Parts: sequence; structure tokens; C-alpha cells
Amino acid sequence: MLADEFSLIKRYFSDCGTGASDTLLGVGDDCALLAPPPGEVLAVTTDSLLAGVHFPLDSPARLIGLRALAVNLSDMAAMAATPRWFQLALSIPEADQDWLAEFSAGLNRMACDFNCTLVGGDTTRGPLTISITLLGTVPPEQALQRSGAKPGDIVFVSGTLGDGAGGLAVLEGRLPVDMGGATYLQDRFWQPQARVAEGLAIRGFASAAIDISDGLLADLGHIAAASRVGAEVEVDKLPLSQVLQRSAGLERGRNWALSGGDDYELCFTVPASGLAQCQRLIDEGVLNATPIGRIIQGGGVHCIDEQGALLDISTSGYQHF
Ligand code: ADP
Ligand code: MG
Repeated sequence: MLADEFSLIKRYFSDCGTGASDTLLGVGDDCALLAPPPGEVLAVTTDSLLAGVHFPLDSPARLIGLRALAVNLSDMAAMAATPRWFQLALSIPEADQDWLAEFSAGLNRMACDFNCTLVGGDTTRGPLTISITLLGTVPPEQALQRSGAKPGDIVFVSGTLGDGAGGLAVLEGRLPVDMGGATYLQDRFWQPQARVAEGLAIRGFASAAIDISDGLLADLGHIAAASRVGAEVEVDKLPLSQVLQRSAGLERGRNWALSGGDDYELCFTVPASGLAQCQRLIDEGVLNATPIGRIIQGGGVHCIDEQGALLDISTSGYQHF
């Protein structure tokens, strides 16, 4: 515990987010008091970021604040739940006022963008670690679990894949890219746009969903395992940004899309009964998503080329093109 812990909490964390009416009591008491809407259940998720493990040690505090909440919001999106409140367990080596001001500004930006409120937490002295527990709500029958996919369902992904890994490569000096491209890719790493609106949009018709944090192969693999099915991905359908294709090339871009991680896009499955509605949302510009494959009987995730021939992939990555 830090010497001036209370003044520090009051200054930086007592007014973070939108402070909506669903928060009866926020930061400052022994517990927060929260009021979920009638008929909805709580959706709860926690993600921790460790300095030097999940982001480079000397990273800007504002970006750490943005990203810490964004990765939690992504889990909420994948459950098709509405984010509302979060708790922050913060371990910091020292009470550096500049760092705290920047960090809380980043956190506040992301909280306001997604209409949620910081309602409590804990502050300790130690190696820099940010642990956030995000709470949201969802009508129980509309929550999207990983276990609902069935053979014949179409697999969709939101946005573009591979940019998160590309952004990390730029940050670590492994990917030469022009100024505009560098900004785009680094933003994609630091400020992943949690697909909360997309999660809410697919509530009625999707059969399963997950957010892509570890690469499509791994995360679609979780849907396959939980649903006791297999999945087939057409690699030429993978949506890649222009910047990624230009800077990394098609092969490396596809590799990063399949096994790179840090994209925080949604992967979801849609049965035949929901395809028309899904396509309408895409056509109307409400949903930015691309069909990339299908659920099949069996197990595991397989990659196929344009001709439908099986491609050789392994957990270590995507082998050839
Ligand atoms: P206690 O000793 O009862 O656990 P604390 O001293 O840890 O209380 O915290 C005092 C109040 O400040 C509590 O309401 C707690 O939720 C809140 N708080 C502590 N740290 C943070 C933080 N990093 N962000 C938001 N609220 C915090
Ligand atoms: Mg405490």
C-alpha cells in the first residue's frame, strides 16, 4: 500500500468513465453497489497486463490505460454483453504523478467511449501490473458462448486480422513501414477497438463467438473444441488491411492473421437460419465482417486454399504459401 493511497485514488480514479445511473455507489466505500437492468444477468471478465510481458517496459502510460480496458471490453463483446462497470487492481513501483495522470486519462478515454464506469479496485506497490475486472450485462438467452457452433455454420471474422501482430512488429523494430502505416499498425496494437457494437448486433442469430486474442487458429480452435466440431478456413478469404499487405506481404500477413495474436476482432459462427440477417447487417454497414470458412464435423481447425486443397499448418504457425 502506498503512503498517500487515498488522495491518489481520489485524484486519479474517483471520476473515471461515464458514471451512468446503473452505478448506485462507486469508488470510495467498502464495496460498490451496482444495479443491473431487470431480466439481465452479469457477464464478468478479468484480464491482467504485466509490464515487459504484455507490453514493452517503457511504454507510454496513456496507451497502457487504453489497452488494459480494451482487452477486457473485447471479452465482453465476444459474449454479446453490454459493458457497464470495471474494477482496477493496480500495482505500481512508485506513485509517479505524471504516469498516473496519463494512465488514468487513457483509461478514462476508453471508459467513456464504451460507456462504462470505474467503480473500485485496489492499489499496491510492486512491479507494474494492471488487472481489470469488467462487468457487463446480457439477457441470459442471448449470451454467445463458445459451445454453440454446429456443422454447416458459416465462420465470420470482424474487421481485419494480423494488424495487432504487425503493430507489435513495428514497435519492436521488426517491420519497416512508412510513417502512415506505422501509425495505423501501432494504433491497432495499442488501441484495439473492442467489437462491442458488433457483438450486440449478432446477438439474435449467431451460434457461437470468441474474441481473437491469440490468432485465429488458436481462438477458432477454442470454438471447435467447446462445440465438439471442426472448422475449415479458406486462407484466401482472410481479411487483411491494405497497410499490412503492403508492408508485410501476403504470406507474412496471412501468417499473422492465423497465428499472430493481439487483433481483438470477433470470430463468430452463423447457422443457415441467420445468414440473410447477417448479410443484411453487412450490406447496411452496421456489421463489418467477412465469411472465411465453415464448421464441419470432426475436430480441429484446417486451412484450405482456393481449390479446397488442405494446407499444411501447425500450432507453430502457418507453413507454406
Ligand atoms: P479497503 O482497505 O477497504 O480494501 P482500499 O483502501 O483498498 O479499501 O480502497 C479504498 C477505496 O478505493 C475502495 O472503494 C476501493 O474500491 C477504491 N480503490 C482502491 N484502489 C483503486 C483503484 N486503483 N481504482 C479505483 N478504485 C480504487
Ligand atoms: Mg483494498
